[in-house]
Amino acid sequence: MSCVKKKTRGSLIIISGTTCAGKGTIIKKLVEKNPDMCLSISYTSRPIRKGEVNGVDYYFVTQEEFERKIENGDFLEYAEVHYGKYYGTPRKETEELLASGKDVILEIDVQGAEQVKKMFPETVLIFIMAPSMEEVKKRIKERGAENNEQIISRFKVAYQEINEIPKYNYVVVNDVLDDALLKVESILISEK
Ligand code: 5GP
Repeated sequence: MSCVKKKTRGSLIIISGTTCAGKGTIIKKLVEKNPDMCLSISYTSRPIRKGEVNGVDYYFVTQEEFERKIENGDFLEYAEVHYGKYYGTPRKETEELLASGKDVILEIDVQGAEQVKKMFPETVLIFIMAPSMEEVKKRIKERGAENNEQIISRFKVAYQEINEIPKYNYVVVNDVLDDALLKVESILISEK
């Protein structure tokens, strides 16, 4: 992650969303366009997918390594998200990025968002949604990375997450990518 030092401390921004809502693409474009923003790279115990890179998409670790890190207090927040797999935000790296003046985006689930909001109430919470669950189903199948049981689990989590939307400050529907990106940028500018 290339981060240039700046004087004022950066802010935390949480972007959550239903599975296959396209939040990863929105975040990638946001970071490309805004040099003062960084994406925090999470740790996970889920297996690496085809096309993913360790240290870029996630730090992929075993369940034992993840649990050791929990015990060491290495995570700002962590949660068990999909089929018993852990995901967590590294405390030290995030703290260093904020101290360097970067605005740090956390792409985390609802459980993690709640934990961070409690610790840092000024955090902006944005929820990205696909235009419909039919569209989500289509996108999951196109990705082809999960078996039926895992797809069902992702759907269950998606419906649970939709119930948690009232906890978020903003909801953006990602129907047309450029429009959704513009909305997220406008939210962040107005929050600044
Ligand atoms: P995926 O397995 O598709 O990469 O991610 C599944 C879910 O895990 C997404 O909803 C994503 O937001 C969430 N997630 C990714 N990293 C973290 C993290 O560090 N903490 C928490 N709580 N959730 C995360």
